[in-house]
Amino acid sequence: MLKLYNTETRTKEEVVSLGPVLKMYTCGPTIYDFAHIGNFRTYVVEDLLRRTLLFFGLKVEQAMNITDIDDKTIRGAIKKQISLRDYTEPFRKAFFEDLQALNIEKVEHYPNATDYIAEMIQMIEGLMRNGCAYKSQNGSVYFSIQKFAQYGRLSHLNLTDLKVNASGENEADEYDKDNIADFVLWKAYDSQRDGQIFWESPFGPGRPGWHIECSAMATRLLGHTIDIHCGGVDNMFPHHENEIAQSECCTGHRFVRHWVHVEHLLVDHKKMSKSLGNFFTLRDILKKGYTGAQLRYLLLSTHYRTQLNFTLAGLDSARASLQRLEDLFIRLRAIRSHHMSSACLDKARERFNQALADDLNISAALSALFDCVRELNSLCDEEKLGEEEAQDALRLFAQWDQVLGVLPLHPQEEIPSSLVQLLEVREQARRERNWRLSDEMRDQILSQGYLIEDTPQGARLKKSRK
Ligand code: AMP
Ligand code: ZN
Repeated sequence: MLKLYNTETRTKEEVVSLGPVLKMYTCGPTIYDFAHIGNFRTYVVEDLLRRTLLFFGLKVEQAMNITDIDDKTIRGAIKKQISLRDYTEPFRKAFFEDLQALNIEKVEHYPNATDYIAEMIQMIEGLMRNGCAYKSQNGSVYFSIQKFAQYGRLSHLNLTDLKVNASGENEADEYDKDNIADFVLWKAYDSQRDGQIFWESPFGPGRPGWHIECSAMATRLLGHTIDIHCGGVDNMFPHHENEIAQSECCTGHRFVRHWVHVEHLLVDHKKMSKSLGNFFTLRDILKKGYTGAQLRYLLLSTHYRTQLNFTLAGLDSARASLQRLEDLFIRLRAIRSHHMSSACLDKARERFNQALADDLNISAALSALFDCVRELNSLCDEEKLGEEEAQDALRLFAQWDQVLGVLPLHPQEEIPSSLVQLLEVREQARRERNWRLSDEMRDQILSQGYLIEDTPQGARLKKSRK
């Protein structure tokens, strides 16, 4: 039985889908620039959740929106004097490349907001018909939050204590809890701000606000009630609160049964964000010589409801953990003897599953895994592990990897012996402090498309990714 914390009820609840397939919606990127690794913390955790649901036998249908229209994408396109599509396309492509580098599984739907404008307009029309939305003096259409008595239900706001600004003037998609206001559903066209980018609608030319994008795409693709909706904690207010209000007022059904929010990735104990300028992209990390797997490991190895302070030392230790696993897998694959011993596998399997089922308790799951690694290494040291058990262990790690998606289970391809010889010469030269010769060997190795990795067990070669 898999339990997950539900932000709305503030309790861990069993995950049961309403229908035969669990419907999951995850707020995706705004493609005005490269996503940063804080964004990817959220997407990696969502991938961990998806894989865990599948691991526990559920069927999943998931949508992640691609926000290709908002103030930032429009500003970018106007500045470059190109179409919105031409402006966003490289960032869309980069986003999918980054997902792949982080081994994030493809989901069923990646809707572009610009392909769902008709659905958004329909929703807004419905909200105007039933009196929940109104056209303001400035030509934009607003949702009247006083029409939804449960507004604030998700983020536990007490509206009676708060002053609500019902002026219908605020066009910003994001604002804080001290500035609760009717929010914009349709932004009237402003030639200064929007250049030539607008859509026709019954309310006049303009474009949708950010919040209605998610409601329209989610309900169109997954139905009016979604089993699990995820995003980073900063999405909870106002974005998800607004999604609930407009969706429920439009369809008359509960919008989301289970809300999951991922805590932030921090840098120097501040939220990593574009506006603070304290961010790294995945590309920055790869340039520093780390791999997508190392970053994925770092991002998923802290529980999702705990903030994670990003450091390069953290990446080094992710690298060391993966190295430790790879060393064990190499040892296990090499075992050919027929010893009998009672390895730890059954207990470890149970511990790992129980930990994951308890609100994705990844720290407990990884400690079950590493206790197992320790025990298997000791059995190897004592030459007590037989081939059959070693293979069972490898199978267990492969099962775990369906969830983790990061274990170095696949043997590296054969390294040409001429390169192994060069490496040996380099190692000998280093021991003799002959730096000139060791540099020469390193350069020859690099020129043949391999990298040298110095590990506690000695140097090894890896094919360069470039
Ligand atoms: P955005 O493109 O800003 O809408 O963000 C895309 C996703 O990344 C949203 O789910 C955000 O909540 C999430 N996000 C943004 N910054 C961070 C961060 N520093 N740590 C974790 N998630 C984040
Ligand atoms: Zn959203």
